[in-house]
Amino acid sequence: MKFCPKCDTRLVLKKIEKKAVLACPRPGCDYQEPASKVEAVVSSENQNQEVLKILEKDVKGLHPMPTTKVVCPKCGHTKAYFWLVQTRGTDESPSQFFRCVRCNNTWREYS
Ligand SMILES: [Zn+2]
Ligand SMILES: [Zn+2]
Repeated sequence: MKFCPKCDTRLVLKKIEKKAVLACPRPGCDYQEPASKVEAVVSSENQNQEVLKILEKDVKGLHPMPTTKVVCPKCGHTKAYFWLVQTRGTDESPSQFFRCVRCNNTWREYS
């Protein structure tokens, strides 16, 4: 897991122009770097939803992110992209991230 060198906010994975980048989600901070050490793996643990698991390994490309029904805390929209990020510690459970399809607000939820 990487943190923004400018403001220490945890970086989130974004797909910009077909490239995976780690970007700072903090408003006003536009820091980003190539996500070369991130691997995206699609699993189908849930039959209806594909869960995007992102591990800290090399990645060749990023799968399109699946969406789920969740309420955006910012604009109230009910559909958001979601993915899981495994943190460094092996005893920690993966963190789930959401990004609103309407306003691009990104937030985190502990699973
Ligand atoms: Zn930042
Ligand atoms: Zn929203």
